[in-house]
Amino acid sequence: MSSFVLICAQAIGVVVLADFISGLVHWLEDAYGTETTPLVGPLMIRPNIVHHHYPRHFTKLNWWQSSWDLVLLGIVLIGATAWADVLTWHVGLFVAICVNANQIHKWSHQTRAENGRIVSFLQDMHLLQTPRQHGLHHTDPKNTYYCPITNMVNPVLEFIGFWPKMEAAVEALTGATRRTDTSNRGEGPVPAWVAELRRTSPTHVHDLSSAHRPAAMKATDAERS
Ligand SMILES: [Zn+2]
Ligand SMILES: [Zn+2]
Repeated sequence: MSSFVLICAQAIGVVVLADFISGLVHWLEDAYGTETTPLVGPLMIRPNIVHHHYPRHFTKLNWWQSSWDLVLLGIVLIGATAWADVLTWHVGLFVAICVNANQIHKWSHQTRAENGRIVSFLQDMHLLQTPRQHGLHHTDPKNTYYCPITNMVNPVLEFIGFWPKMEAAVEALTGATRRTDTSNRGEGPVPAWVAELRRTSPTHVHDLSSAHRPAAMKATDAERS
């Protein structure tokens, strides 16, 4: 195999790994994290719960506001691999993608006008996850399609039933079961602190939210293709 083909294959492998790890973290947050989980609860789980209730809420955040925690984790990984003398371009690419996972996810919830031509083109080419595929994650009971970066990894994981198998393994090993998701119909009541957002930031909650329900996502995407 020529070195160019080898490098391309390795780069695709890094992208797939970054998408998978991002999906794995997302699954842990959705399935087992609560807003009271120590440290990560307020920092990561709380925004995640809000996102399931109000998918457009985080589109009002700028890049730094939605990526600072991933930047810190990326710095730790770069530092650790440099210290262990195993820092390669693969690690750099992995960190560059993972640091932008929330931003790529945000693009799945924005309109084409908000995303601009380049991001819309990359979504059309399926190089970035399409809003249509991400819409499947936001379909009740919201327990599929966790990977937020590409369209490549999710179908494979769904085909092999990866997430239900992981949850069965976690239950067998620890006894822990999936938490309820109050954003699903019939799994309420909505926590008071989530409902409060409707009063304190109504624009963020309501802005375009009806246009970004999964069915609308699918319709928008179907129009493109
Ligand atoms: Zn989710
Ligand atoms: Zn989403």
